[in-house]
Amino acid sequence: MDSDCLFCKIVSGDVPAAVVRDRPRTLAFRDINPQAPTHVLVIPKEHHSSASELAQTDPGLTAELLLETAAVAADEGIADSGYRVVLNTGSEAGQTVFHVHAHVLGGRRMAWPPG
Ligand code: 5GP
Ligand code: ZN
Repeated sequence: MDSDCLFCKIVSGDVPAAVVRDRPRTLAFRDINPQAPTHVLVIPKEHHSSASELAQTDPGLTAELLLETAAVAADEGIADSGYRVVLNTGSEAGQTVFHVHAHVLGGRRMAWPPG
């Protein structure tokens, strides 16, 4: 637990969140500022700063995180229509919370390439 980290505080329950899936090592909750009809964040409960750091430190947990994005998509009914998984890594990519999180976005047609 990183006491300065917003998502660690969501894991500990100090900051409330709309949790959609709670698993032993991962948590999924709705983004507070949704960019699509479905916008869920999937995080490891353990603090890891980025997707890159997580992948290098714990490949098993990295795989669990990706599996959970698929489970969220199935739960939300967007697995067949399609959805996007985004792992913003670093400030230029738009990462603002430095506790790795996979955005699961769906429920509308999305542009490619991203802006
Ligand atoms: P990033 O820009 O780092 O990829 O994504 C951070 C995401 O966290 C943003 O989409 C933002 O809306 C979301 N977020 C920021 N603060 C909170 C919060 O307190 N609760 C929830 N549920 N989401 C948050
Ligand atoms: Zn954290």
